[in-house]
Amino acid sequence: MTNSTHAPIHVIGGGLAGSEAAFQIAEAGIPVVLHEMRPERRTDAHGTDKLAELVCSNSFRSDDHTQNAVGLLHEEMRRAGSLIMASADRNQVPAGGALAVDREGFAEAVTAAIEAHPLITVDRREVAGLPPSDWQSVIVATGPLTSPALAEAVRGLTGAESLAFFDAIAPIVHFDSIDMSKAWFQSRYDKTGPGGTGADYINCPMNRDEYEAFIDALIAGEKTTFKEWESTPYFDGCLPIEVMAERGRETLRHGPMKPVGLTNPNDPTVKAHAIVQLRQDNALGTLYNMVGFQTKLKYAEQVRVFRMIPGLEGAEFARLGGLHRNTYLDSPRLLDGALRLKADPRLRFAGQITGCEGYVESAAIGLLAGRFAAAERHGEAPLLPPPTTAFGALLGHITGGHLSVEGEGPRSFQPMNVNFGLFPPIEVPREPGKRLRGPEKAAAKKRALTGRALADADVWLGRAPARDAAE
Ligand SMILES: Cc1cc2nc3c(=O)[nH]c(=O)nc-3n(C[C@H](O)[C@H](O)[C@H](O)COP(=O)(O)OP(=O)(O)OC[C@H]3O[C@@H](n4cnc5c(N)ncnc54)[C@H](O)[C@@H]3O)c2cc1C
Repeated sequence: MTNSTHAPIHVIGGGLAGSEAAFQIAEAGIPVVLHEMRPERRTDAHGTDKLAELVCSNSFRSDDHTQNAVGLLHEEMRRAGSLIMASADRNQVPAGGALAVDREGFAEAVTAAIEAHPLITVDRREVAGLPPSDWQSVIVATGPLTSPALAEAVRGLTGAESLAFFDAIAPIVHFDSIDMSKAWFQSRYDKTGPGGTGADYINCPMNRDEYEAFIDALIAGEKTTFKEWESTPYFDGCLPIEVMAERGRETLRHGPMKPVGLTNPNDPTVKAHAIVQLRQDNALGTLYNMVGFQTKLKYAEQVRVFRMIPGLEGAEFARLGGLHRNTYLDSPRLLDGALRLKADPRLRFAGQITGCEGYVESAAIGLLAGRFAAAERHGEAPLLPPPTTAFGALLGHITGGHLSVEGEGPRSFQPMNVNFGLFPPIEVPREPGKRLRGPEKAAAKKRALTGRALADADVWLGRAPARDAAE
C-alpha cells in the first residue's frame, strides 16, 4: 500500500511515542519518515540502537482494565490498534496483575514492525534544530532526554520559561481522601486574586508538637539520590522540602508552611503553629497538589510522612513527589487541543515531552498525535477522544484541564501518570436494597468509570454506534 499523493509526515524520536505515532500514520496510508538519532548519538539513559527501548523498569504496570486507570489505557490502546501494546502482549513475562515484558523482545518487535512497514522510512540522524520549513507536518517525540540542540531550538520558539529541564513535583492528593473535618478551604488573607474565590486552598493545621515530629520525620526520611548525570538541580525556588527542613527547623514555618492569614473555622481561637496548603490541580476539582512540597523522599516514606499531616491521615496520592531530569513543555499554555504548537501548528508534540509520564502514557499520546496528524493529511479534522476515556482524560491533563498558577515557586504544570482523578466524576449506580461502603464502593466506582470509558472509546473508535443522548 503506497500512497505517493501525500508528502511524508516527519516524526522525530523513535521512542515509545514516536514509534507508535509513526505506525498509526503509516497504517492510515500516509508515508512517514521516522528520525532517530541513536546509535549515532546516544542519550544518558538509552543503551541500545533499538526503537522503543525501555530505559528502566520492564513493567507497563497494572493490566486490570476494570479497576486501574493505566490498565484501562492499555485496553483502549489495544482497541485502537496500538503497535506498542501488541508488541508488549507478544513479549509478556509473568508479573502477577501487571503487564511486564521481555525488554529486548519487546524493542525488537517494535523495531522490526517499523522497519518492515512499506510506508515508513527510518532516518538514523539527529534533528539538531528546528525542522526544515519544507517539512509540512512534524511530530516531535524526543522524550525526557531530548538532545540539547533540538531542546534549545524549541526553547527559542516557545520562550525560556516554557520548556523545563527538570520536573520538581509536589505530591498530588485525591480530594475525596482529605478529611475536611480537620482541613478547611481558605485563601491566605481571603485574597481572591484573578479567578479566585477567597477560599481556593485547602489548609491542614499543625500544632507545635505535630510540626516538630513532622520536621524530624522529614529529616530522617530515606531519600532517593540523583543519577550521576543529573547533577543537583536546586534552583528557581524548588528546593526539596526535606532540604529546607535540614537548613533550619523554622525554615518551613517561614516558607510553604507559614501559618499566617488563615483562621481554622473548626477551632477559631487556636492559632495553628504551621499550615500545609493544597491547591486545586485540575479543572474538575478532584485533585489537589501540596504547595511547595517537591521532594526527593522515597515513595513509601512520602506516604508515611505526609499522612502525619492532620487531615491527610487517609490521603490517597494520585502521584508522589520527585525531582528528575525531564525535558517537557508547559503544554496547557503552548499546545492546542490536538497537540499542535499554537505558535507553529505544523509542529505537533507527543510523548513525555508533552507532560505525561510513563511508557504507556507516552505511547498513548504518540498514538493520538499520529491519528490526529493522519486525519489532517486526509483533509479531516482530528477526532478528539471523549474526556470520559483514558485517552481523553490524559489528553485533557496535557492540553486543557490543568489550572495554572502564576507566581513564585516551580511551574505548576507537572508531568503525571494517568489516574482516575483526571476523569469526570460518575455516580455509582445503586443496587436496590444494597448500600455499598468503603472498598466495595470504591471498586464499584472504578467499575462504573472504566465501563463508561470503554463504551465511549468504542464509539470514538467507530467500533460501536453512538449512544442515544437520552440514554
Ligand atoms: C532515567 C529514566 C528512567 C525512567 N524509568 C521509567 C520507568 O521505569 N517506567 C516508566 O514508565 N517510565 C520511565 N521513564 C520515563 C520514560 O522515559 C518515558 O516513560 C518514555 O520512555 C517516554 O517515551 P517518549 O517516547 O516520550 O521518549 P523516549 O522513549 O525517551 O524516546 C525519545 C527518543 O527520541 C530520541 N531523540 C532525542 N532527541 C532527538 C533528536 N534531536 N533527533 C532524533 N532523535 C532524538 C531519543 O534517542 C529517543 O529514542 C524513565 C525516564 C528516564 C529518563
